[in-house]
Order: sequence, then C-alpha cells, then structure tokens
Amino acid sequence: MGRFDEDRLDMIALLREKGIADERVIGAMSRVDRHRFVPEPFTSRAYEDSALPIGKGQTISQPYTVAFMTAALGAGSGEKILEVGTGSGYQAAVLAELGARVFSIERNLELLAAARKVLDRLHYRVATRGGDGTVGWSEFAPFDGIIVTAGAPDVPGPLLRQLKDGGKLVVPVGTLSRQSLIVVTRSGEHFDRREVEGFKFVPLIGKMGWQ
Ligand code: SAH
Repeated sequence: MGRFDEDRLDMIALLREKGIADERVIGAMSRVDRHRFVPEPFTSRAYEDSALPIGKGQTISQPYTVAFMTAALGAGSGEKILEVGTGSGYQAAVLAELGARVFSIERNLELLAAARKVLDRLHYRVATRGGDGTVGWSEFAPFDGIIVTAGAPDVPGPLLRQLKDGGKLVVPVGTLSRQSLIVVTRSGEHFDRREVEGFKFVPLIGKMGWQ
C-alpha cells in the first residue's frame, strides 16, 4: 500500500459513519488521490475530514461535504455535469470517477491553472474555463446536473435555465457566514426546491453571486 492508502481508507470509513451510504460516491472517493489536490504544506492532512487552504483565500471542500453534495446531485455515468468553482479540482475528479462528463468553471485563473495541471497529470478528462460561473456555460447547456461549490446569496437564475428536464442543481445558499444546501429538481417549467441545513462555504463571487 502507498503512503496515503491507509489514510484514505480511514476517511472512507468515517464518511460511512457520518451517514454517506451512496456506494457509487464511496467508490469514486476511494479512487481519487485527495493528497494530489492539496498544496504541499497540507498533504499530510489530506484525508482529514476538513476543508484545507488551497491559496487565494479559497479552500478544498471537506470530504463529507463533497460526498454529501455528490450524492445529492446523483450524477450518473455519461451524464453532463457543470461545476461552478473548480478550486483544487478535487470535486471535478470525483465526478469524473463517477463517469460523468464534467465541465468546470473557476474565476481565479491561478487556481484554475493549478487544478488543470493536477487533473491532466492524473488523466482526468474535465473541460475547464476561467470566468464567472454564476451565468453558467451556455455553449454546453443543458446539463443533467449542476453543482455550485461556493456559497451564493440566492439560487442563480441562469443556472436553473441551463438544467435539462429532470436535471438537478445543488447550491449552498445563505449569508456569507452560513448556508443551507439547496437541491432544485427541474420538471418542465416547475422547479422543485428542497433544503438541507448547515454548511459553510467560501463566497460565490460574480454577476449572480456576491459583488
Ligand atoms: N470544488 C472545489 C472547491 C473550491 S472552493 C474543490 O473541490 O476544491 C470554491 C471555488 O469557487 C473557489 O476556488 C472560488 O475561487 C470559486 N468561485 C467563487 N465564485 C465563483 C464564480 N462566480 N465562478 C467560478 N468560480 C467561483
């Protein structure tokens, strides 16, 4: 076993204890080397269930949060998924492991370049672009699923319109200090909205985000 394999198994066991029961998500997360997405000074802590700094005031999300959001999104193999907030690239890699076709947008170009490098080195096929993801990625819309990994002041309207019929949008919405996770499912022109309490994300900044 490699240096990190045991840590990763412990992380997976903890996710199960905390209630993550989706075996596809568990499988995908047990295949992604989280330590490759964490900056050097923090690699020894890569499998702790906590968010860690990735530079530019941003963080790689806590493994439990990634697992919870990925399960809520329910991304199936071959599905087209848009991620807003590439960050370290870890969430994108987990989605790619699930067999999704991943499109990911990041506003910070330095973070995007670093994520791109890791994703390429590990041969994850993820399409990325720099820019404001609150307006979506119309060239590739509609999507089976959209996941926003930064906290928004409200559900960004353009993202709803880029969902396929039956598609799901997972987005943390709230104040700058605390958000609920909102899961919106589209059926035709009806958008069903469910809410899960108690998450903390870095802010989503942009046209439909915080200014
Ligand atoms: N999914 C990431 C989490 C990164 S934190 C991971 O797995 O590591 C959220 C990221 O969203 C930050 O990198 C931040 O720069 C980015 N972000 C914030 N507002 C954004 C916007 N409007 N469009 C695209 N990215 C945004």
